[in-house]
Amino acid sequence: MGRFNGKSVIVTGSSNGIGAATALQFAKEGAQVTITGRKVENLEKLHGEMVKSGTPASNIHIVVGDITNVDVQKKIIEETVSKFGKLDILVNNAGAAFGDDKYQGTSSPDSMNLLEKNLDLNLKSVMNITNIAKPHLIATKGEVVNISSIASLNFGALWHSYYCIAKAALDQLTRAQALELIAQEVRVNSVNPGIVATNFLAATGIPDEASKKIYDYVATQRKAFPADRVGVPDDIANVILFLADRKASYYIVGQCLVADGGSSIVMGMHLIDMKAAFSQ
Ligand code: NDP
Repeated sequence: MGRFNGKSVIVTGSSNGIGAATALQFAKEGAQVTITGRKVENLEKLHGEMVKSGTPASNIHIVVGDITNVDVQKKIIEETVSKFGKLDILVNNAGAAFGDDKYQGTSSPDSMNLLEKNLDLNLKSVMNITNIAKPHLIATKGEVVNISSIASLNFGALWHSYYCIAKAALDQLTRAQALELIAQEVRVNSVNPGIVATNFLAATGIPDEASKKIYDYVATQRKAFPADRVGVPDDIANVILFLADRKASYYIVGQCLVADGGSSIVMGMHLIDMKAAFSQ
């Protein structure tokens, strides 16, 4: 018996990275899973991995499309309920950072367009698809897990500022949705990952080779990155499943749970070597 036997789950952005690992873990734990994204070949590859790991094909549903499109959002919810009879868990994972290639922060000439793109994907699509899913989640006393980022936290970021703004707004949305929905016994929480090696950097336009170099370099920066390695998708999938598991996390409501190998607790002032300062 898997932990999620008989549960109907949607994982958005499951054609790659954190979402793919999450969908696979849910399926291994007995859930019926809708996987979705724009790249059909990646979704088919994941479908194959799920079947190989023992999930019956009848427990998997694929929806291809752009999550910022309202018709796609409706299709994801409607087809899931029609195929699996209900919806228990919605994981709003699809996300990406859009910036200008000169890293001009919020003063880029294209700033309003870039802000809109970041908000459309990382914030508005989450708000809208959750609203569409709401009656079904109320019917099952379901769970919502949003995927935010440590980019939302209380420090400034010059790199991809619009993305940080969107994820900070997403954290507030998580709290607002949690308050609204807990009255109907639906829990909403978020996971805020630190750096995880996925296609995330490549999706911002950084070539694969350079992305790998960045992940390798970050892993050597132990002062800013206390864990002994960069995160892997399963590190985050484990936390998502914990928050989606009512028995394990029932009393956690409206929280943004950081999973970052400790990087957010050593930023800024904490990097100053006080011992060295005293010895001068
Ligand atoms: P990946 O780029 O590997 O995966 C992103 C997923 O989102 C893909 O499945 C992609 O599918 C999907 N996606 C992106 N845009 C759209 C769209 N318009 N419509 C539908 N699907 C879309 O990145 P991660 O796995 O790392 O990212 C997952 C989540 O984790 C995101 O919300 C990200 O912001 C967050 N995160 C990631 C961190 C990291 O260091 N990796 C750190 C903190 C947070 P497709 O391309 O097929 O459309």
